[in-house]
Amino acid sequence: MDNKLCGLVGERLSHSYSAVIHEMLGNSEYRLFELAPEELDAFFARDDIYAVNVTIPYKRTVLRYCSKLSDEAEEIGAVNTMLRSEDGSFVGYNTDLYGFEYMLRRADISLEGRKLLILGSGGASRTVQIAAKRGSASEIVVISRTGENNYSNLELHADAEIIINTTPVGMYPDTEGKPISLEKFPDCRAVVDLIYNPTMTPLLKEAKRKGLNYTNGLSMLAAQAKAAEELFFGEILPDALTESVLKRLEEEQE
Ligand code: NAP
Repeated sequence: MDNKLCGLVGERLSHSYSAVIHEMLGNSEYRLFELAPEELDAFFARDDIYAVNVTIPYKRTVLRYCSKLSDEAEEIGAVNTMLRSEDGSFVGYNTDLYGFEYMLRRADISLEGRKLLILGSGGASRTVQIAAKRGSASEIVVISRTGENNYSNLELHADAEIIINTTPVGMYPDTEGKPISLEKFPDCRAVVDLIYNPTMTPLLKEAKRKGLNYTNGLSMLAAQAKAAEELFFGEILPDALTESVLKRLEEEQE
């Protein structure tokens, strides 16, 4: 990419899989830019940065460095990919939505006509809410610790059919955490956990025990990276590449 830099911007990246993923996708120049909030202005003023992915906690912060947003980024209100345009300014994109929809297709989970419970109200939750509207869910309920629908009145939504965890509860290093018990949801048929480390959170283990359809977030991670590389390179990459990245990630977690 002609000495133009690309990589991942985030606050803590020591456990990131992104360099490995992007190398497998054909980008051997992909770097990790671990930045404190006060370093962002100087970073985005550099003229050698060509394209970046953005992760926690900057997906909304970087909106201010984008001169334009894709329709998805605008709708979600967050950016996970930034690409330098011809006039030198950055355009913001969001490939998490593509990644989430890929993950659902792969797991054979359809939201159409289903009542959905989305745990958490942060950035990933917003992506899931947009996907749920696009996927024609019949009802979308967001459970938030401080919201009207919260963990003390879950019985109001005992008829939920699909449960999606967008909280970090169960994520490394606190891998014992479980946001809810599935016992309270007799109609639940599928559980989606956006967490990818570990691949089997306590929530997913319970889903498996109950014989429900389930998926972790590893395929979303691989698919959003593939979509980002398509923007970086300006060409369509095959889904087979997403699958080989995924296979490698799964092997590394065994
Ligand atoms: P975020 O913006 O910080 O939002 C997380 C939300 O979870 C918070 O807004 C909060 O909602 C809830 N929450 C936080 N701590 C909690 C706790 N101790 N107990 C219960 N709820 C809690 O983070 P995010 O960017 O949305 O990411 C959330 C998770 O999704 C992370 O595990 C991340 O790794 C994963 N993720 C995965 C992918 C992928 O490609 N697989 C992509 C994006 C994100 P309330 O305050 O409303 O309760």
